[in-house]
Amino acid sequence: MLATQLLLFGESNIFCARCDIPCRASGPGTLAAQLLRRATSNEDGLCVNCAVTAFLKSVETIAYGIKKNGVGMLLRPDVQKMFTEVMVSGNADANPEEIDWERVVNLWNSPFLKGSKKRMVGI
Ligand SMILES: [Zn+2]
Repeated sequence: MLATQLLLFGESNIFCARCDIPCRASGPGTLAAQLLRRATSNEDGLCVNCAVTAFLKSVETIAYGIKKNGVGMLLRPDVQKMFTEVMVSGNADANPEEIDWERVVNLWNSPFLKGSKKRMVGI
């Protein structure tokens, strides 16, 4: 089964737990979303680009293919189209146009901090 990720978007006073860009909760998400579900609260969450990265790294066969072919493959339109199909079949809340693939590639090797304390300011 596909992993579900919190997903936060937009300008606000919380930040992506991985890359620190400003985000906001935009849920409630679709219960049927098997990946990239919008967050309903300001818990530690991920921006769409980091959530995509987390998903890709969580699926062993996909992660292996990217490792074998190089992360630059994610910039290919045919690969992005395949991912769009995965999003559709998994009822993802995120819109494919929201994904900044350049950012996904550039931050590919950045770590995911578990239990990150950096989250809201002033909520
Ligand atoms: Zn992020």
